[in-house]
Amino acid sequence: MRPLTEARLEVLGAMPQLPPEIVSVEEGLHRVTSEPVVSSHAVPPFDNSAMDGFAVRAANVATAPAELEVIEDVPAGSVPSRPVGPGQATRIMTGAPMPSGADTVVKVEDTLSVDENIVEVTVATSPGTALRPAGGDLAAGQVIVEAGVRLTARHLASIATARGTLAVARRPVVAVMSTGDEVVPPATARLKPGTIRDANRVLLRSLLTDFGAGVVDLGIVGDDLEDLRSAYAHAAAEADVVVSTGGVSMGDYDFVKQVLGEQGSVQFWRVAMQPAKPFAFGEIDGVPLFGLPGNPVSTFVAYEQFLRPALLTMMGARYVLRPRIRGTMGEDLDTSPEKEVFVRVILAEDDGRFVALSSGGQSSNVLSALASAEAFAVVPVGVGSVAAG
Ligand code: AMP
Ligand code: MG
Repeated sequence: MRPLTEARLEVLGAMPQLPPEIVSVEEGLHRVTSEPVVSSHAVPPFDNSAMDGFAVRAANVATAPAELEVIEDVPAGSVPSRPVGPGQATRIMTGAPMPSGADTVVKVEDTLSVDENIVEVTVATSPGTALRPAGGDLAAGQVIVEAGVRLTARHLASIATARGTLAVARRPVVAVMSTGDEVVPPATARLKPGTIRDANRVLLRSLLTDFGAGVVDLGIVGDDLEDLRSAYAHAAAEADVVVSTGGVSMGDYDFVKQVLGEQGSVQFWRVAMQPAKPFAFGEIDGVPLFGLPGNPVSTFVAYEQFLRPALLTMMGARYVLRPRIRGTMGEDLDTSPEKEVFVRVILAEDDGRFVALSSGGQSSNVLSALASAEAFAVVPVGVGSVAAG
């Protein structure tokens, strides 16, 4: 059996790079930057007010009360037309540009309106109060996000303040198919004896959509050599990555390895992990192929441990693995010491620590316990039993 880390390194090393493209910031979610994103101008672009109030000369409001002549109104989105002189004030709204001559803002709560043209400042205000300087967030040309970063809503909001487009890796397109003569669409009204509803395709489609990949759904393919041959050929022509589930075990109808081997090259491993031990990886015409095991929990674990990091690698991401946190087992565990075991758990919090309890049946077909799980408890190779605590 191959250690998981070794198998994964081999997979990641075989992934081709997706080319960059320019997208608008609105299209950037979940994409990976292919070069550093730099601001095209200072942010904020101009000195502006952080408060609704009066832009004044600080020297005039060093002591209070002080009466000033109001010379102009500047709402956000307009520009001041007059400099603020000694004894003068410009009524200014949050986000409006500072008039020249003014070096501080007195917030409206610290003033009394005497009449239309006279304001009384009731609180002494120091220079620079409620003033947001140009470039206080970003300088022109400053790097906002480095290359190789998977973009979140927060990155995009920051980029949006400074530019409208950016360079990211093209979105990967993944072809998915379920294989197996027993597998029928979930919408089937009445199951015939011996058949089961297809869980893997909705699992993979949903994971990939959530990830931000394009999906080509090739449906269900029977355990038939000819059907598999044409499905793989079609898939490799349509997508950047091909994923199938089922047919990679040692059964009489497990044809996936054979077909992959005929049409391209295939490596088949027993990976020292549980679930998802049997795993076929290869390529047809340079298109990577993932033959995942048929049991749905195995499919999910294989997605997390291989496919997701592989897609991130294709996109040029710097970090491709999920972060891990330390927790405490709330119950005894017995696992296979030869394998890295991914135990489906729920988490409770006890005095600032996470305590993990099994979420239910741990067989690789038991989706109900995967559905309710909140984390994997990862038991490393070499550890067979874990005592509570
Ligand atoms: P296989 O890898 O083809 O030997 O399948 C392993 C187990 O997973 C068998 O019990 C299959 O019936 C089951 N299985 C295969 N494909 C699916 C699927 N798409 N949805 C749910 N179960 C599946
Ligand atoms: Mg099968």
